[in-house]
Amino acid sequence: MDHLQQSRLNLLTSHMLDRGSLVRLDTETLALRIQDRRARFIGIHKMQIAIDPGDDTLPAWLTRDEALERFGHVDPWIYLGEQNDAVYFALNLDEHGREPLDDFVGLRALAFHLDPADSTVLAYAQAMVAWHKRHRYCGRCGESTESRQGGHVRQCANPSCAILHYPRTDPAIIVLVEKGDKALFGRKPEWPSHRYSTIAGFVEPGESAEQAVVREVAEETGVEVVGARYHSSQPWPFPGSLMLGYHAQAGAELISLNDQELEEACWLTREEIISRLGQGIFIPPPSISISFRLIEDWFDRNSNIPFKTVLEKSDADSF
Ligand SMILES: [Zn+2]
Repeated sequence: MDHLQQSRLNLLTSHMLDRGSLVRLDTETLALRIQDRRARFIGIHKMQIAIDPGDDTLPAWLTRDEALERFGHVDPWIYLGEQNDAVYFALNLDEHGREPLDDFVGLRALAFHLDPADSTVLAYAQAMVAWHKRHRYCGRCGESTESRQGGHVRQCANPSCAILHYPRTDPAIIVLVEKGDKALFGRKPEWPSHRYSTIAGFVEPGESAEQAVVREVAEETGVEVVGARYHSSQPWPFPGSLMLGYHAQAGAELISLNDQELEEACWLTREEIISRLGQGIFIPPPSISISFRLIEDWFDRNSNIPFKTVLEKSDADSF
């Protein structure tokens, strides 16, 4: 399986959406799109997504009239693109300073109930709204900024500056480290009890993704990475990361929690994971995440029983 196919299996990476990157530059076409009968608006308030008041598993994709009735306005909007004969817009509900009383749910909870195409658009919408909220002022001169190009640029309002700010994506690595028949897991103190995951961290300026893999694993666990293979990527809009997934090989098993970011790190074989799942003392990361897929692909590479079947049998609380 090549990297394109691998990434398509990650949630939030559906290729169905036509982002219409040229439409953003065409003010007249954008004005028509916003009036289009196919236009659908999703409200985002404090990084929560508007849902159908009668069903908290359904995002509320509203027509323009419905959005006006529910929120009282349809701006500021962000053009997201087209998919399945609908034209999608995100609404940043926080700019008006009001607290809508309607129901909202976080994307992490909602994503479990959505098909890949829908969850991809919502992740995109959330990441864009988060960027707008954090870039209301120019980082160069401090003046306020204004939305341009369908919400895909913010321009400084100071005429002598007028710099354009583009949406930010912060690269981060996430890596399953293996040695023989074992994989390396860590847990952070703030996670739910018994939750374990792969090692992750942001790529620093002046650093390659592979260098970040080596550094992060060494910082968090003391384990030396001697080889790394790219797996796939996943946008992670909490608020604006791009996760670059790797499988890596360790030189030795000795663990040392150098930066104290983890409260525990351990090597586990597949059999030990099955045993811990049965005892309820191992909970994998959420199934919507790339870390789950890194674990699943490692596990299934050398197991007669697929990881998901093992989880279903153990009734693990991972979904
Ligand atoms: Zn400026």
